[in-house]
Amino acid sequence: MRNLYLLLTFVVLFFSCQSKTTTISTEETPAQKEAPSKNKFGIVIHGGAGTILKKNMSDSLENAYRAKLKEAIETGYAILEKGGSSLDAIEKTINVMENSPLFNAGKGAVFTNDGKNELDASIMDGKTLNAGAVAGVTTVKNPINLARAVMQNSEHVMFAREGAEQFAKEQGIELVDPSYFYTENRMNSLKRAQKREKIELDHDDQTAFYDPFIKDDKFGTVGCAALDKNGNLAAGTSTGGMTNKRWGRVGDAPIIGAGTYANNKTCAVSSTGWGEYFIRGVVAYDISAMMEYGGKSLAEAARIVIQEKVPNMGGDGGIIAIDHEGNMAMEFNTAGMYRASINGDGELEIAIYGK
Ligand code: ASP
Repeated sequence: MRNLYLLLTFVVLFFSCQSKTTTISTEETPAQKEAPSKNKFGIVIHGGAGTILKKNMSDSLENAYRAKLKEAIETGYAILEKGGSSLDAIEKTINVMENSPLFNAGKGAVFTNDGKNELDASIMDGKTLNAGAVAGVTTVKNPINLARAVMQNSEHVMFAREGAEQFAKEQGIELVDPSYFYTENRMNSLKRAQKREKIELDHDDQTAFYDPFIKDDKFGTVGCAALDKNGNLAAGTSTGGMTNKRWGRVGDAPIIGAGTYANNKTCAVSSTGWGEYFIRGVVAYDISAMMEYGGKSLAEAARIVIQEKVPNMGGDGGIIAIDHEGNMAMEFNTAGMYRASINGDGELEIAIYGK
């Protein structure tokens, strides 16, 4: 009898412990309640801004751009949807565009004045405010991967030219022969730019010696900004820079704060356009700063910077951005900007031209 009593006590105790464990594990802790909702994530990309007009575009070329933008953004979205990090989403999305000859980044990069391809890229982690950038690399297949390696595997932020290539070798980053970057379209753009430059010089117009905004010949930088399910923002940008550039010219794309910026407190931004003005306007950081110190929404901050500040200086271009709530902006003051976004509900938007 005593044994039976002990057995019953044990059984009651055992089941009460079991049910308590189940209750604790299903109950939401306060931290979980504050965590971003399931659908508070998203991704937004650009493939460059410029004089992109419907009348200059064949249907087949437009379809090719739309298909590649879709492939790129869906690559990043799939990572985010599975709970992957915004940094992984950025890198893999940009890789798709770097590997396509349609964009001025990786394969398809524009040519320098002496017929080379010098690539720039940067990436920033909004959680840690860590960042990595590379400038003027000529043998790195995917410069965004090298920028990420600089951020994660070095104590520095930016490497240029031979030093960056040496670091790439040491990191086992994929290298290619410079001829990999050759495309006939970009070579023709260089020839057009140089012909135009010569005509302007023959007319003794010294102010036209270097017009970096050789319209129609320069757009196509790529960029991506994302918010993951853990509430972490990240942004990245990759480019061949500007057609006919010389003297080791570096634009805004690898400059943290100008071409790329991310901060979990505010937003993640990637820029495209006339780099000299984006550097001087510290465009990506300015949008974040307006949100942080001025209480502006992302949409308002992006509009002021891109529609007022940059054009008032004489520059043009655009940005894509996402904030810590998942709100997105795709703002540009040029005729068009290759762009796409997918929000947390899976809604896809792809566009090329302006209003
Ligand atoms: N911002 C790039 C640069 O100045 C060019 C571009 O975005 O089209 O190098």
